[in-house]
Amino acid sequence: MRPTTGRTAIVTGSSRGIGREIALHLAARGCDIVVNYHGREDLADAVVREIKWLGRKAIAVHADVADETGAKALFRATLDAFGRIDVVVSNAGIMKTVPIAGAGLADYDAIMRTNARGAFNVLALAGKHLGEGGRIIALSSSVIAKPAPGYGPYIASKAAVEVLVRVMANELRGRGITCNAVAPGPVGTELFLEGKSADQIASLASAAPLERLGTPSDIAAAVAFLAGPEGAWVNAQVLRVNGGFA
Ligand code: NDP
Repeated sequence: MRPTTGRTAIVTGSSRGIGREIALHLAARGCDIVVNYHGREDLADAVVREIKWLGRKAIAVHADVADETGAKALFRATLDAFGRIDVVVSNAGIMKTVPIAGAGLADYDAIMRTNARGAFNVLALAGKHLGEGGRIIALSSSVIAKPAPGYGPYIASKAAVEVLVRVMANELRGRGITCNAVAPGPVGTELFLEGKSADQIASLASAAPLERLGTPSDIAAAVAFLAGPEGAWVNAQVLRVNGGFA
């Protein structure tokens, strides 16, 4: 099993939020990084600059993770730039709360497209390109355990991610590659904060016994553990990183 240093990692959706922090954590542990983004090229370029300050190589690559051609091009660009892919973090995701009765199919389709189809697409490419010692980590969500009103499509999409990760780990038998999910509790990013009142945020922040929101760094540390030598024997698992939220 190779150490983290000298490896290349693709982090989908790493222009901001949790993905950005995962990219920085992996870079600090010696990985060269492909910063994938969808809309915010300016932010992705800023993350690339930060990684270079850490002494690692990085490129920003635009791709919609749910688009077959785009995701293929993301993996091709990584190989062209670095010649290898060792770690793939399927982090890109969107969230919208909509009640099942009353939600349009358009909302359901949009959430499933990015979160479930996107993860499927990225996992499939990771399975094709990773070799011995490879690591695949996908972002689920701890909200799966709390089926709150409005979270139907989002929880459905993340349930798909957890299933895909466990099946993938078994499909990779014999290749020395681990495949796991990390399921954060509420983390104070745009995805979580948008559209919530101060009271809603305070109530969710105090839901966990540790009585605070998670930080992107809390989640990135768990991902870096799974991507590094210490995580070698963890496979086909969902690691809930949530302060005890559920
Ligand atoms: P943010 O909204 O802060 O960031 C989302 C990232 O995903 C951005 O980099 C965005 O790119 C990218 N992205 C969105 N759609 C696509 C797409 N189709 N293709 C490629 N990239 C895309 O979200 P978080 O950092 O909060 O969430 C990261 C992951 O963690 C998600 O999977 C989310 O479901 C999960 N999660 C988050 C929790 C939270 O409380 N924040 C809790 C549990 C799970 P761009 O900037 O270019 O638009």
